[in-house]
Amino acid sequence: MEQRHHLASRHRYFCRQYRNRGQIQCHHLLRGSPTLRHTPRQLLAKVIMHEGLHSKYQLINDEGNLSYYPTLNKHMQLQAEQIAKGYSYEGEHETMAEGNIPTFVKGMKEFDANYGTCHSNDWYNAIAWMGSLREAPSAWWDLDETTRNKYMLIQRNEQLYMDYLDAKATYYGNKTNKNRAAMNRAKQAVNWNLFNQTRNE
Ligand SMILES: [Zn+2]
Repeated sequence: MEQRHHLASRHRYFCRQYRNRGQIQCHHLLRGSPTLRHTPRQLLAKVIMHEGLHSKYQLINDEGNLSYYPTLNKHMQLQAEQIAKGYSYEGEHETMAEGNIPTFVKGMKEFDANYGTCHSNDWYNAIAWMGSLREAPSAWWDLDETTRNKYMLIQRNEQLYMDYLDAKATYYGNKTNKNRAAMNRAKQAVNWNLFNQTRNE
């Protein structure tokens, strides 16, 4: 059975689980889900921060405290206006992208340091933008094109690397010629120069 897990779908999976079942379920998924087996732990850390912010925003909303949080308030009002007009607008992701990319970067750096590992600044930023934040928010489009392209290359390469790890695990679980060929194809698809550039700078 072929398993391909793309970041956007991984992310949506998290968001849905988080919203429907809460933080404990998310924690359970991180520990137990085979679909996340080859997701880098820094990315998982980012996902937890991201989902934690969703929870925080929803708590603020539920408690009627939006007026104390100007950015969130602005985007939730825009969301209500846009949805009333029949457009979609993700106020929470817009809020997150406007103010929290440096927070994600800082969090991932601290997390990394605990393991004695390190990545390039571009890598942390690319990972911070990976998933839903890149799909909607205006703050992404405020970045210049060169920066966006650079981050997208890194994001794509991380996905290819995860695909390679998945294919490798499949081969080691079932050593057929077909699985070996798939593993080698996946390995060749990774840009290893870029991969090495983003590590241990
Ligand atoms: Zn989200």
